[in-house]
Amino acid sequence: MAGTDQIYIKWYACDEHVEVVLDQLVDEVEIAPDLNPCEPDEAKTATCHWCGGTPAYRLSAHPSNP
Ligand SMILES: [Zn+2]
Repeated sequence: MAGTDQIYIKWYACDEHVEVVLDQLVDEVEIAPDLNPCEPDEAKTATCHWCGGTPAYRLSAHPSNP
């Protein structure tokens, strides 16, 4: 009986790499993640999963447990 928030993937992507990061995340978790604009506070510390640059988007997903 695991909680639904137990596994939570959160990746970031810059404007340029949002598509490739999205593809990679879908490939990894096999579900479509939520795509939201990155908060300014998050952009200070988070980095694009692809290039390490300042992110513009946050991709979050809750992979289901096997
Ligand atoms: Zn990037």
